[in-house]
Amino acid sequence: MSRSVLVTGGNRGIGLAIARALADAGDQVAITYRSGEPPKELAELGCLAVKCDITDPEQVEQAYKEIEDAHGRVEVLVANAGITRDQLILRMSEEDFQAVLDTNLTGTFRVVKRAARGMLRARTGRVVLISSVVGLLGSAGQVNYAASKAALVGFARSLARELGSRNITCNVVAPGFVDTDMTRALPEERQAEIVGQVPLGRYAEPAEIAAAVRFLASDEAAYITGAVIPVDGGLGMGH
Ligand code: NDP
Repeated sequence: MSRSVLVTGGNRGIGLAIARALADAGDQVAITYRSGEPPKELAELGCLAVKCDITDPEQVEQAYKEIEDAHGRVEVLVANAGITRDQLILRMSEEDFQAVLDTNLTGTFRVVKRAARGMLRARTGRVVLISSVVGLLGSAGQVNYAASKAALVGFARSLARELGSRNITCNVVAPGFVDTDMTRALPEERQAEIVGQVPLGRYAEPAEIAAAVRFLASDEAAYITGAVIPVDGGLGMGH
């Protein structure tokens, strides 16, 4: 069955891998991108790319209208878009703190709220939030990022309780360190240090995160809600 899927931040990294996995599974996938041009691969996969900055409520509304016109109401939402602005706390500006919260947490609120409207009417839906191992483990230099990602757990569990009676599930995937632009930006020593702490001794491939998301969005996962699924090579040991 082809469902209408939205993946935010689906133009690169983990989001692109999720879009690829769900399009391969036969879904009608829309992605949002914030800057630049989305890769040609997305058009080849039949994905719709919609420009949208999730910090702007008007752009979120506009994106949903475009997606609904093309694919109908969103049945599966993957809230993946996120940023880091790392700094030790004494050097972290209020702006860096707010920017990370506004994208990772409030941005998620904006896209989930808009999707929930259609899901409630249809009495079915799947929501998957992309958190991070760091949200529960903590990470020096990332109080803003870790706070935003930990918050997604309370968000998802509240939503799971609120919407469960309407057959809408809401789960969290908590990746460990994944080979994307976000982690490539870390200094080499820090990257080596991280790999040294991962029991599986390597970074994840984006497709390994996408596999967990695809499962949570599938019929097989119909009885899973409010769960946090770690895909972290054992780094968090299930928290
Ligand atoms: P990337 O930095 O590679 O990609 C981030 C994506 O989010 C891009 O598509 C980007 O769009 C989009 N984005 C950022 N800000 C906004 C915004 N305001 N509005 C709309 N889109 C936005 O990150 P990853 O693929 O590595 O990460 C994806 C998610 O996974 C994030 O939530 C991240 O926190 C999480 N994660 C990543 C881990 C990792 O090791 N990489 C580990 C754990 C969690 P654009 O290209 O236009 O900038």
